[in-house]
Amino acid sequence: MTELVKKIIIAIDGYSSCGKSSYAKLIANELGYLYIDSGAMYRAVSLFALQNKMIENGVIDEISLIRNLPKIEISFQTDGNGTYTLLNDENVEKKIRNLDVSSVVSEISKIYEVRERLVQMQRTMGKNKGIVMDGRDIGTIVFPEAEMKIFMTADPKIRAKRRFDELRSKGIPASLLEIESNIEHRDNKDTNREISPLRKAEDALVLDNSRMTFDDQMLWFTRKLFEKGLLKKN
Ligand code: C5P
Repeated sequence: MTELVKKIIIAIDGYSSCGKSSYAKLIANELGYLYIDSGAMYRAVSLFALQNKMIENGVIDEISLIRNLPKIEISFQTDGNGTYTLLNDENVEKKIRNLDVSSVVSEISKIYEVRERLVQMQRTMGKNKGIVMDGRDIGTIVFPEAEMKIFMTADPKIRAKRRFDELRSKGIPASLLEIESNIEHRDNKDTNREISPLRKAEDALVLDNSRMTFDDQMLWFTRKLFEKGLLKKN
């Protein structure tokens, strides 16, 4: 396990399906830190809205969703097989990855009150540091004071293929074309929305992992820790 000179917050932002979650999990594992997938939280709110018929023909009943926000509890559970997202104590890990959720999540995440509530929950999760969180606004809005910020990007075609393989491996039916267009659509929406758009924090380090293995990315990470003076010398 890699030891650091102090407990820090690691914020990972970037485009859809860049492998942020896999990377964040590896880093958390290496450091013995908590990992939080903030995208799963926006997905869980989207699933809640879908399940409670707050979205009809793509139109969101925002007032009703906002009124019901206090009823939404999101937590994470880890066992030997991985980490699961719980929505009001139900394991929804599989459901929140479906394309019906992916198709509405960028609209849901534009709603001010949704962001306000989730950002507050995320800050509480990070109050003791020792956390790796990935998302779109982690280094800019949630933890602007994070000691280490990474902005991830990769070739859109490679990203779509990765997401396709990931869904298939989980037994979730998927079409490559649909995934490509969903990724493009979400990047566009996430970058151009008014509140907390996806953008690189000024002090974030850019990582283009199009042609990098996980080992390459971990090597890159350790070098950056070293350059920042965060690695504990043995
Ligand atoms: O990370 P993931 O692709 O699962 O995120 C799903 C969606 O949630 C994103 O496309 C974005 O609209 C929203 N999101 C966000 N802010 C975050 C994390 C995710 O707006 N911090």
